Amino acid sequence: MTYPPTHASGRRTGTSSRHGGRQAVDVRPQVPPRRGPGGRRVLAALLVVGLLASVLPWWLDTPAGSLKTSAATVTAAGRITGLIAGYLLLVQVLMMSRLPVLERWIGGENIARWHRDVGATLLVAVLAHASLILVGYADLENNSVLTEAGVLLRDYEYMVSAFAAAGLLVVIGFTSVRAVRTALPYEVWHVLHLSSYLVLLLGFAHQFSNGAQLFRPGPVRTMWIAMYVLVVVALLWGRVLAPLRLNLRHRLRVADVVAESPDTISVYLTGDRLDRLELLGGQYFRWRFLTPGMWWQSHPFSVSAAANGRWVRLTVKVVGAHTRDLRDLDPGTRVWAEGPSGTFTAAHRVRERALLIAGGSGITPIRAMLEELPPGAALIYRASTPADVLLHRELDWLAQARDVRIWYVVGSRHDPGPREVLSPDGLRRLVPDLVRRDVYLCGPPGLVEQSLTVLRRAGVPRRQIHLATFEL
Ligand SMILES: Cc1cc2nc3c(=O)[nH]c(=O)nc-3n(C[C@H](O)[C@H](O)[C@H](O)COP(=O)(O)OP(=O)(O)OC[C@H]3O[C@@H](n4cnc5c(N)ncnc54)[C@H](O)[C@@H]3O)c2cc1C
Repeated sequence: MTYPPTHASGRRTGTSSRHGGRQAVDVRPQVPPRRGPGGRRVLAALLVVGLLASVLPWWLDTPAGSLKTSAATVTAAGRITGLIAGYLLLVQVLMMSRLPVLERWIGGENIARWHRDVGATLLVAVLAHASLILVGYADLENNSVLTEAGVLLRDYEYMVSAFAAAGLLVVIGFTSVRAVRTALPYEVWHVLHLSSYLVLLLGFAHQFSNGAQLFRPGPVRTMWIAMYVLVVVALLWGRVLAPLRLNLRHRLRVADVVAESPDTISVYLTGDRLDRLELLGGQYFRWRFLTPGMWWQSHPFSVSAAANGRWVRLTVKVVGAHTRDLRDLDPGTRVWAEGPSGTFTAAHRVRERALLIAGGSGITPIRAMLEELPPGAALIYRASTPADVLLHRELDWLAQARDVRIWYVVGSRHDPGPREVLSPDGLRRLVPDLVRRDVYLCGPPGLVEQSLTVLRRAGVPRRQIHLATFEL
């Protein structure tokens, strides 16, 4: 079996026309062995154990019957929330580390979800800690809350930086609220978000100089410092060393840019030793194109063809400034990639057969996965107009080569046809063994959410449903 099929050629969009990477190559039709959902559960359990362990120092340090007054109780609550906040901050930064093992085990999409949930809890814990300590200390020392705030800032070492860290966290939390986030340019949001490292730095000294359980040298303090060291090592590894290794090894560069539709392009990349690139169909990289105007930003795009040892391809819908610029990439442009990431892959299936539901450009990871799923998969491809159907010829070719049944469902979401297909009965009619399949969903958030509801109503167990929304 060879790819690309002879009829699957697009139009070059840029001016240069050097062809580097689209020779016919052998598609490796192996189905990757299952990895199972174990990783996510083990890590979730570890994080909960870590949370309990973080409060243990307070528990061991607090004699029974010492919480007799309300001031003592409030202060104790302040200390507990402080320990929880310190621990959650480390978990948060770990989630941002892009440690390859986490990205492959749990998947960038799930990490992003956890990161959001832990982030909200962290903010509550920090605010609770600050308020409870303030009120508790004010009560203990018979001060007003305002006077006590002044005392804390003036007399306690590193308290100013701790207040700055809390303020920064509030800003990060506020700008992460969906409505605010979507109103901001992505880059502004991203830079603000990256300042969480500063929170780690600003909050560090405060914990050891003021933390009742941490300022004394001993096993608890040593363990806390060890956790910081581990997280910083994870950060260095995930953000610096692993990408450096990947990029020095493969030295990726643009081979060609091909128009797939009026607003969609495919970027073909070549590089060294691509036969050793560990990559599964459905995964994504964060790509940085090293041109004067683009090197400073990295954007996530899935690969739209499985690994083939010769080239890597991403297929991109033009939605904003960056994706627009990609159309003008010149062959030979160096590319810096971070990844691969994601558990939206054939290796994460729990059943032998799969149903895939794609919407618009959500077809890209699904197209790659079709090369690696066991034969007999079914695909429902939802698009608003015929022009929005991407990679049509390749899909038809895969339908034959990999025994995939495909339904193109084209039309507005209000048309009776598409509405009927995406209903529990409609899905069961097309795919009678629906509940015994994995279902992979990728597309706009609205389609993914609606399909998820319909699938659950049709009786598909949640663990068989895999989601990708192109949102991190
Ligand atoms: C895991 C993942 C895989 C993706 N795979 C593909 C793909 O295969 N094909 C495809 O066409 N699109 C894909 N996307 C979407 C793609 O990353 C965005 O469309 C692109 O970054 C938009 O950039 P822009 O500057 O052109 O548009 P903008 O106008 O800046 O943004 C348009 C939208 O994209 C979001 N966005 C912008 N930059 C980023 C970024 N660096 N990271 C995350 N979101 C961002 C913005 O929040 C906004 O909602 C994927 C997204 C994710 C998260």
